[in-house]
Amino acid sequence: MSKESVLFEKDCPLDAVVQLAEQRDIEALDSTLFDILTQYIRDTRIRFYHLHGQDPELGIKPSIHKVLDSHPTHVEKELKLTDEDVQFCIADGNPTFPSELAKKPRSLFPIQAKNHICAIVVLSTICSEQHKNFLDPLIKIYASHAFLLNRNEHDSLTGLYNRFALDRKINHIYKTAASDKRRSRENLENTCFALIDIDLFKSINDRFGHIIGDDVLVYFAQEMRRCFRDIDLMFRYGGEEFVVIFRDLNLSMAEFVLQRFRKRIERYKFPQVGKVTVSIGYTRLDTAKDASEIICQADRALYYAKNHGRNAVCSFESLHKSGKLRSIKDFKSHTGQFSRTTSQY
Ligand code: GH3
Ligand code: MG
Ligand code: MG
Repeated sequence: MSKESVLFEKDCPLDAVVQLAEQRDIEALDSTLFDILTQYIRDTRIRFYHLHGQDPELGIKPSIHKVLDSHPTHVEKELKLTDEDVQFCIADGNPTFPSELAKKPRSLFPIQAKNHICAIVVLSTICSEQHKNFLDPLIKIYASHAFLLNRNEHDSLTGLYNRFALDRKINHIYKTAASDKRRSRENLENTCFALIDIDLFKSINDRFGHIIGDDVLVYFAQEMRRCFRDIDLMFRYGGEEFVVIFRDLNLSMAEFVLQRFRKRIERYKFPQVGKVTVSIGYTRLDTAKDASEIICQADRALYYAKNHGRNAVCSFESLHKSGKLRSIKDFKSHTGQFSRTTSQY
């Protein structure tokens, strides 16, 4: 089918459906949907926003993030959660077309996840029937495929991302940095990686049983979500080990945020169990180091924290600078899961 003809066709082209169904991760699915829209809908600014973090039970409000934009330098104001038409679109769950008399005409297409709106596609135009007929099925296919991909990437106990997602997200961060070389160094220098391990968790299981131990993991993950920003990527790495990747945060800010989290956990009264503490090792991402090296650096800092009294936050960079890290030969991975083959230690 010729791309020019689509706005005069009623239906969504089958090859677009196939392209969406072929995607194996959310970022690729987002950009595939976006590419299809920009190819087929001409002379219109198209923006794709994600809604993050909402969880009424935890009192976490959603926030809105632009992911893709066909006219990124355009000055038109961004979508805001406080906009009347955005609020209406989220509450109603149906496409919203503000009055043709509105100063800036736009059409909002909400994307429904399991029980909330997870994304919004915005066209800077008054929506026609043709647009609607084209977009409706594409958005439905996107939503159902996104649901399956999301389920695959989340830990069923805590709802955080799982280990599988961690490998993929790190690769994605590196790939994005590589495609934007000018800003890559700066971006990665402000991306920090923290490895978080609950102290003496085995003794919680031993004293209170495995089910209460599982509850501690759930409460712990909830505290992570309350404490970190919704743009921070949070993972359950395995067992009682968690990872956070902080975007746009330098090392000293990461120290501040992680110390605040450590203190918050120390103060928190876990139901039935009481006080629990946590040890954290963190480091900065670096284009010269691959993902396994970064994880290994955070692990070394965590290992140091565990060996120096626990309930502590340690930075690989500070320990390295002050000569406190011993040679790699003496290093035992705290988690026992990470690569220790690199020579620079
Ligand atoms: P450290 O301070 O050195 O980290 O001590 P630790 O006891 O936390 O560490 P260790 O690695 O000795 O024990 C981790 C325990 O976590 C052992 C394992 O039984 C428990 N565990 C792993 N996965 C789960 C889970 O899904 N649920 C529960 N309840 N326990 C788990
Ligand atoms: Mg532990
Ligand atoms: Mg552990």
